[in-house]
Amino acid sequence: MEKCSFCGRSKKEVNILIAGVSGHICDSCIEQAHQIIAEETQKSAKFDIEQVKLLKPVEIKKFIDQYVIGQDEAKKVLAVAVYNHYKRLSQQTNDDDVEIEKSNIIMVGETGTGKTLLARTIAKMLHVPFTIVDATILTEAGYVGEDIETILTRLLQVADYDVKAAERGIVFIDEIDKIARKSDNPSITRDVSGEGVQQGLLKLLEGSIVNVPPQGGRKHPDQKLIPVNTKNILFIAGGAFDGIERKIGQRLNTTMVGYSASAAKDAIDRDNLLQYIAPQDLKSFGLIPEIIGRLPVLTYLKPLDREALKNILVEPKNSIVKQYKKLFKMDGIELSIDEDALDFIVDKAIEFKLGARGLRSIFEAIMIDAMFELPSKKQTTFKLSLDYAKKKISKTSMKKLRVA
Ligand code: ADP
Repeated sequence: MEKCSFCGRSKKEVNILIAGVSGHICDSCIEQAHQIIAEETQKSAKFDIEQVKLLKPVEIKKFIDQYVIGQDEAKKVLAVAVYNHYKRLSQQTNDDDVEIEKSNIIMVGETGTGKTLLARTIAKMLHVPFTIVDATILTEAGYVGEDIETILTRLLQVADYDVKAAERGIVFIDEIDKIARKSDNPSITRDVSGEGVQQGLLKLLEGSIVNVPPQGGRKHPDQKLIPVNTKNILFIAGGAFDGIERKIGQRLNTTMVGYSASAAKDAIDRDNLLQYIAPQDLKSFGLIPEIIGRLPVLTYLKPLDREALKNILVEPKNSIVKQYKKLFKMDGIELSIDEDALDFIVDKAIEFKLGARGLRSIFEAIMIDAMFELPSKKQTTFKLSLDYAKKKISKTSMKKLRVA
């Protein structure tokens, strides 16, 4: 009897059975095979670094500029680090014994200044798997919390378990400052959330084969582990390092003693001490030297001022304003926004200390009624004026925002 050589179903059980030289294939097996091919080609295209041409640092920065406002210093440093990472990935096996070493990155800056956005934008450009992990959920093996290895589980998941792709991915470790040890002195007692986690992290940053639980969670004895080589994974760490300015200030003061001190002191911009950040400040904050050594590229992000916040509303490729204009356009409505309404939104974000993160929630609070009502009306234009914005931001809605 004729049957499908793939699934074994008989001619009666299928719609179409196509004969080959020494077998048959049914319509549903063809469909399935087609789907597999489509997925596989998509997967390799998604993460194929060879397909991407090597952008020069200036071009990398230009790309980032489309999405991230300001932060030129960080962008420059990142562009160079990424460029070198690229080169490293494409380096031929050594003919001259010079191996380009990995340059993991650490970014210091207040929350909501664009650290995650920078990392995310870079991953978008590179077409490599990208994941964000929060360092606060990590604990030392054997304690409550997630094992360090689960960082790589997430990376495997976004790479659809394509280990090769994951091995060239980017991991953004957020809130790295939260695993700083509590005092500058090496602890005698065990410090579950601090030094132990840093030690664990070190293994990943160094470049080694790590056995990863494919589904995450805690390792258990009969789970099959996937070996992942972290040698080419780029780690970008970020943290607010609250209070680190004081440590920078102290260091600057002491190093200047006896050194035409007053002149040098004058040259220091006290309002923005972060720009002078150096590895030893991270050590004073409580990162162990080994970790600092494995995050050799250190850069900082500036707090966002009024002008930057306003630009963030309008300028990025997918800015909030552009997104809303598009949403309205889909209903045939042209949205226009007065300058002073934008200023008002920025003022509120500053007033409620919401930073860039607050811009969207404020904008949403203002627009919700219009978004609700206009699609059912025949209106073709809508103007967001200062008065309208003020009216919508009532005391109650701001209270809600403050909690968020
Ligand atoms: P961080 O990681 O520093 O805490 P994020 O990158 O998560 O901050 O920023 C939060 C949000 O604020 C981003 O999703 C983005 O919308 C906006 N944002 C922050 N900084 C910038 C910036 N420099 N340019 C454009 N948008 C920004």
